[in-house]
Amino acid sequence: MKKITITLPPAEQREYPIYIGTDLIAKIATLINVEKYSKLFIITDQIIEGLFLEKLQKNLPEKAPFISLPPGEQAKDIKYLTKIWKAMIDAHMDRNSLIINFGGGVIGDIGGFAASTYMRGIEFINIPTTLLAQVDESVGGKTMIDFHGIKNIVGTFYQPSTIIIDIDTLRTLPKREFISSFAEIIKHGLIKDRTYLEFVTSKKPQDFTESELIDIIKGSCEIKAEIVQNDETESGLRKLINFGHTIGHAVEALSLETENPLLHGEAVSIGMVEEAILAEKIGLLPSADVKRVKELLEAAGLPTAIPEYQSEDILKKMKSDKKNVGGKINFTLLREIGKGVINQTVADDIIIESLKQP
Ligand code: NAD
Repeated sequence: MKKITITLPPAEQREYPIYIGTDLIAKIATLINVEKYSKLFIITDQIIEGLFLEKLQKNLPEKAPFISLPPGEQAKDIKYLTKIWKAMIDAHMDRNSLIINFGGGVIGDIGGFAASTYMRGIEFINIPTTLLAQVDESVGGKTMIDFHGIKNIVGTFYQPSTIIIDIDTLRTLPKREFISSFAEIIKHGLIKDRTYLEFVTSKKPQDFTESELIDIIKGSCEIKAEIVQNDETESGLRKLINFGHTIGHAVEALSLETENPLLHGEAVSIGMVEEAILAEKIGLLPSADVKRVKELLEAAGLPTAIPEYQSEDILKKMKSDKKNVGGKINFTLLREIGKGVINQTVADDIIIESLKQP
C-alpha cells in the first residue's frame, strides 16, 4: 500500500491521507478511525451496490445505512441531492457523523456536495471506484451537481478527510472507461512532469501491472494535489488542470447531443490535441511537440480527431464555458511537453482556423 499526505492551505490547518493499494476495502477499519464517528452513512450507485457494497458494509463495525442512486451523470441532480439529505435525516446523522462516498466521480461530486451542505458541513471520505475518480475527481475538493441543463454549475469547495483507493475495484470497470481515464493521467504528465509522462505512456493502459498502476495513480494524485494545494479555489495555478478541457468540454457537450456520446476522457484527449494545435498556431508550442502529444494519446488507444462537428458550433459551446471571464475564452495551453501555461486568450478567427486544420 502507498500513502500520500495532502496538506490543505493554512486557513484549514489540516492534512489528510490518500491510501492506494489492493484489498483496502477489507482494511477500511484500520485506515479510518470509525469509532470516532456517531454514525456512518454510505452514498453509492446501483452498480457499485451490486458489486461491492456488501464487502464494504461487512468491514465496518455496524451495518451502515446507505443510499443507492441510479448510475451515471443523471444522478448529479438536485432531485437526488434532496433524497440524500432526507435519507441522512432519517438515519439520524449528526455533526459527528461520517459520509462514505463509494462510487465513481458522480458519487464523489454529489456526495461531497451533500457532505458540505448537511448541517453546514460534516466529514466525508471518498472511496473512488473508477480510474477517473481515483486519479482526478476524488482529489481537490470540488463538489457539485448539474442544474438547469448546465453541468457542474452548483457546488462548493470542500475537502474529504481521507481517500481510499482500492485498485481491485477496477477489475469490473469497462475497458473503454479505463482507457478513457488515461487522458487525464497523460494530461498530468503533459502539464507538469515529463518523467511521469514517459512512465504512463511506456505501455498500453491495459498492460500495466498492478504495482505500476498503483504508481501511476499515486503520481497523478501527487501532481493534482501539488497544484490544488497551492490554489484551492482555482484563482491561478489550478487552471493548469484545465488543459484540453476548453475544447474538450465543447466537443463532449456536442457529442452528448448525438447517438455516439464521447466519454469525458475521450473528449479531453481530442481537446488536448486541438489545444496543442492552437498553441502551435499562436507560436507557443513547437510542431514536433504537437505531433508527440497526438502520438502518445493515439498509442494509449484514445481518439484524437474531432468528430464531424462544425468549428463554429464548437466555438459557440466554448463561449458558454464557466471558466471564461468577461466573455473571453480562457485557455490553458502547453509551452512545451511537461509545461502548461494558464490564462491564454486567442482571437475567435484563429480558434476557428485552428479547429478546421486537419
Ligand atoms: P461515473 O461515476 O458515472 O461512473 C461511470 C460508470 O461506471 C457508472 O455507470 C458507474 O456505475 C460505473 N462504475 C463505477 N465504478 C465501477 C466499477 N468499479 N466497476 C464497474 N462499473 C463501475 O463517472 P466517472 O467517470 O467516474 O466520473 C465522471 C464524473 O466526475 C462527471 O460528473 C465529472 O463531472 C466528474 N468529475 C469531477 C471532478 C472534480 O474535480 N470534482 C473531476 C473530474 C470529473
